[in-house]
Amino acid sequence: MQPLIRVTDLGKIYNRHRPDEMVALQDVNLEIGQGEVVALTGPSGSGKTTLLSLLGCMGRPTSGIISLRDHQVSKLPERFLARIRRESFGFVFQQYHLLRDVTVIENVMLPLYPTDMPFRQMKNYADQVLTRFGLEGMAAKKVKLLSGGEQQRVAIARALVGRPEIIIADEPTAHLDNRLAGELMDIFTLLRNEGKTLIIATHDPLVVNSGLVQRQIAMRFGQIEKDVTR
Ligand code: ADP
Ligand code: MG
Repeated sequence: MQPLIRVTDLGKIYNRHRPDEMVALQDVNLEIGQGEVVALTGPSGSGKTTLLSLLGCMGRPTSGIISLRDHQVSKLPERFLARIRRESFGFVFQQYHLLRDVTVIENVMLPLYPTDMPFRQMKNYADQVLTRFGLEGMAAKKVKLLSGGEQQRVAIARALVGRPEIIIADEPTAHLDNRLAGELMDIFTLLRNEGKTLIIATHDPLVVNSGLVQRQIAMRFGQIEKDVTR
């Protein structure tokens, strides 16, 4: 079967040809199938965020190829990358990056504005995803009035409003207490059960050792040190 994502001989060098040149990724090869749940682990500085951002079509590799469903994306011009990012990926970060003075529903609709979706449909999509996360009563509230757990759900709702098939999460539990981390894992489990593909950079044992994660890719010095499917 054709993999969802295929990475061939990927390399990323920051500040190339300068004294502070940094080889962040080197000789990375991997395939990720539709519906896989992958934990990307490794010490700080090992290249996890760099790999996630290249997979998510943010930025361009120095060498190598990234293909999405057999379409080579790594060499496309930015306007196409932006579109693929929007349509195929949902991003979950450590920080929620929400607009605090803006309402919940406006925050959630934000990723849909650059699409050509009619406004009513945008609102419909946003309403659906808010309901799904128990936020339907909060649509008109400003984000700054919400609790931490509610803000987390708004951030996830926003990541999912465009119905992406791949969820990319960068250390999503790093700033969360156990309860919020548990809620996030429950949401990830729901997404896995829907057949979404999840790629989670983390060194949180709660995530790595959870039943959710099926495969661990461990990075070291910008290379894959081990790739184990359970
Ligand atoms: P991780 O997420 O595993 O901590 P990163 O991908 O953030 O690793 O970083 C890998 C290496 O690349 C590190 O040495 C980091 O300092 C360097 N790096 C990351 N982003 C940049 C950047 N924008 N410019 C220069 N160096 C960077
Ligand atoms: Mg990182």
